[in-house]
Amino acid sequence: MTTSDRPRPLKEAARITQMLDQVFGTDRFNREPVDVAALAVEYSRRVAPESPIHEVVERNLPGCVGALVYSDVQPRQWAIMYHQEQSPGRRAFTIGHEFGHYVLHRPLIEQGVGFDGGIYCDEDSVIRRGGAGIEKEADEFAAALLMPLHDFRRRLPAKDRPDFDLLSRLATRYGVSLTAVILRWLEYTETRAIMVVSNEGFAHWAKPSQAALRSGRYIRTKDVVYELPAQSAAARADYSNEARQGIAQPANVWFPESVLEMCLRSDRYDQEIILLHFENDGPHYEAEDESKDVLDLFVDRGRTVTR
Ligand SMILES: [Zn+2]
Repeated sequence: MTTSDRPRPLKEAARITQMLDQVFGTDRFNREPVDVAALAVEYSRRVAPESPIHEVVERNLPGCVGALVYSDVQPRQWAIMYHQEQSPGRRAFTIGHEFGHYVLHRPLIEQGVGFDGGIYCDEDSVIRRGGAGIEKEADEFAAALLMPLHDFRRRLPAKDRPDFDLLSRLATRYGVSLTAVILRWLEYTETRAIMVVSNEGFAHWAKPSQAALRSGRYIRTKDVVYELPAQSAAARADYSNEARQGIAQPANVWFPESVLEMCLRSDRYDQEIILLHFENDGPHYEAEDESKDVLDLFVDRGRTVTR
């Protein structure tokens, strides 16, 4: 099965979204988020009565956050497992991701080499949305299903710069984590912004908006240690209301230009979520090859992180 033969994530998510809109109304998110565990069980019975998802269960999955597993018998019987101790928001996205594998990839997982009884997914693939190939497809499916853009963009237009209060309300609306909401917003925002997830003064991972990336504003965390600027709220462990609302950082704290830094502490995960908002469109670096990932291009040119 090649990539082009496989069901497309956004198309499949849109199909189910349309069905839910018809059944529960287009204003359904005013009442409740998608009940993705119940949906996965019911939908699978409908589209594959011989080979449905029987249960969605909590398990101890060391090193993984979720899994889609199948039985030895034919036709295959399926189950979604999620790692214990996830917040309800993280759990919803994890289940959505595994449901995505079921809808999009089950022939591949069932027959493919390298899958032993199912597919197991780690934090980088699910929480950070950092995976490639079928992992990326499962993330796209989950994001589109749980946070449909037509509803999301109405609440957070592409030119707006949201604060944590608005983002938290959206996390409640869609029943997902704050980071999942921010990653969704970063996909379509026209503003320049970066999310940084940090702990004890170091960035764990970071994600720029497309506009930020195009202007050369991003933070590399892969294979390098990125120490937060000493003057940043997160490095100073300033978790005050002021830091949450946003602190104007002058040029050369984070980048050669000024930036509005918002910082929120999560005790549950022992980490900070930092949002960096840039003022304007900023400098433009012309990409030589639009088809190539802009970040790769910068790396190819030997650019390093600008501080
Ligand atoms: Zn996965």
